[in-house]
Amino acid sequence: MLKIEDLSAGYENGFVVRNVRLKLEPGEFVAVLGPNGSGKSTLIRAALGLLRNARGAVLLGGRETAAMGRREVAREIAYVPQLPDPVFDFSAGEIVLMGRYARQGRLDAVTAGDAEAVREAMKATDTLAFKDRKLSRLSGGERQRVFIARALSQDTPVLLLDEPSLHLDINYQAEIYGLLKALQIREKKSILVAEHNINLAAAHSDRLLFLKDGAIAAEGTPRETVTAANIRAVFGADVDIRANTRTGVPEISLAAAESRR
Ligand code: ADP
Ligand code: MG
Repeated sequence: MLKIEDLSAGYENGFVVRNVRLKLEPGEFVAVLGPNGSGKSTLIRAALGLLRNARGAVLLGGRETAAMGRREVAREIAYVPQLPDPVFDFSAGEIVLMGRYARQGRLDAVTAGDAEAVREAMKATDTLAFKDRKLSRLSGGERQRVFIARALSQDTPVLLLDEPSLHLDINYQAEIYGLLKALQIREKKSILVAEHNINLAAAHSDRLLFLKDGAIAAEGTPRETVTAANIRAVFGADVDIRANTRTGVPEISLAAAESRR
């Protein structure tokens, strides 16, 4: 579905992501983990073909995203940015409708299908209640859910989400990840998230990719990669690891420094 080959990417002052390869199969859920500044957002932007300073290849169904138009990419990949672009003060419903633009002609009126897609996406993200409210009047978590709704209304086979849990309370973290999981399983969507929450990522992903200083430091299933040694190497943190009693997936906890002596 999405294939990243030997990708190095960055900004005017040089590459910040180096020699990354990653394959996202249809119906696969992959999380990119790593400390602040390790290059997670850069990797996602490069995958969308948004960075001019990039070397290597990003293939979408065998075609290079860099050579595709923005609307063409937008029919295949929906993107939820980490810090949504500053926009004019649109209402929540208007933002979600923007997800439909890639499917419309420039001057097409909003169809019943568009309105239905918007409604479904807002229902799924619990944002219908403030459909007509301006973005500036919403909390960070509410805004985050509106941008996730926009991505859902886009109705693409691939979803890239940059820290979707960032502004969310634990109940919405569970809800949004549950929703993504359902889209993966029911609709075979391919999902790539950048996530700083190791436990959330491990609980929901088929594979994890750990980035450190822009390079892959570990890659594999949560069971293979969520180890105390990897967490120490990538994050410089000492953690305890236990298997979740229900699922067996490894979970980290920060033991109090005192109790670890
Ligand atoms: P993460 O998402 O893992 O926190 P980023 O991809 O945002 O990491 O950042 C990786 C590195 O690239 C950091 O050193 C950051 O300062 C730098 N960086 C991010 N965005 C830009 C930009 N627009 N211009 C120049 N450097 C940037
Ligand atoms: Mg980031």
